[in-house]
Amino acid sequence: MSARSPRDGRVRLALPNKGRLAQPAATLVRDAGFEFEQDARQLFTPCQNYPLDLLFVRAEDIGEYTQDGVVDLGITGSNLIEEAGARVGRGLTLGFGHCRLQVAVPTGGKVTSPSDLNGKVVATSHPRTTAAYLKGHHVSARLIEVNGAVEVAPLLGVADAIVDLVATGTTLATNGLRPIATVLESEAELVRNSELPPDRIRPCEQVTLMLASVIAGRGKKYLMMNAPTESLPGIREVIPGMGSPSVMQLADPGMVAIHAVVDATGLWELLGPLRDAGASSILVLPIEQLIL
Ligand code: AMP
Repeated sequence: MSARSPRDGRVRLALPNKGRLAQPAATLVRDAGFEFEQDARQLFTPCQNYPLDLLFVRAEDIGEYTQDGVVDLGITGSNLIEEAGARVGRGLTLGFGHCRLQVAVPTGGKVTSPSDLNGKVVATSHPRTTAAYLKGHHVSARLIEVNGAVEVAPLLGVADAIVDLVATGTTLATNGLRPIATVLESEAELVRNSELPPDRIRPCEQVTLMLASVIAGRGKKYLMMNAPTESLPGIREVIPGMGSPSVMQLADPGMVAIHAVVDATGLWELLGPLRDAGASSILVLPIEQLIL
């Protein structure tokens, strides 16, 4: 499998083969309409209904594979792109795998800010990002690279602080640690090779559009309701929809159907006011894909 072998315009997309990002990444690809069979032992799977081949590899390697053209597109955590120093096209965040890379120290200890780390030992699984962060804060600390269970390093007495991924903070607290600074915010991201061959630019854009449309759809709901015609102005005030709602005359004279796309967040706060404004038979539907 050479990086630049001719592929008849087939797009190659790398997905994490295990870990937290694996399942949501594969679900996203399926939700975008790409059909494939997944076998845990298989590294490479062609899609059955589109010229797209999926490569299942370690999330840590996806930035570099994308940079080197082994794949055209990749889905991985933005923290891993930063840590790999991968030079890839970026810009589409995917709304899952949210976490923060944080500096954490023993609760009640003397270190209370990153500047207190001068001359101290910091354990991390993100040495490159951590080194750049400390340098940016003019801190000279000794880094030790730890893969997994970074939080126990201070307990074991091998480090004064850690730089690690945090989602809820529960693991930190369990290990007697508290965050004192955020190095970066991360979420899953679609990245692309920056030097795509001309015959793959358009197919890659197509795949990107399909994935982006699922992400856009996940943030919205389709709202349908009936109302007396005279209630329409009041209802429009309640719906902060995308553009103008669709209004259709019902067979019942004096009644209309109103359809609108609204943000999924805060939707529940709209339903009562809509009913109070005269809406009835209110339906809330998911949106599979949305292209603006
Ligand atoms: P994993 O393979 O499960 O160790 O995690 C791979 C990636 O999942 C990380 O590099 C992050 O991009 C992302 N992630 C999301 N939430 C968390 C979390 N709470 N802890 C660690 N990684 C997370």
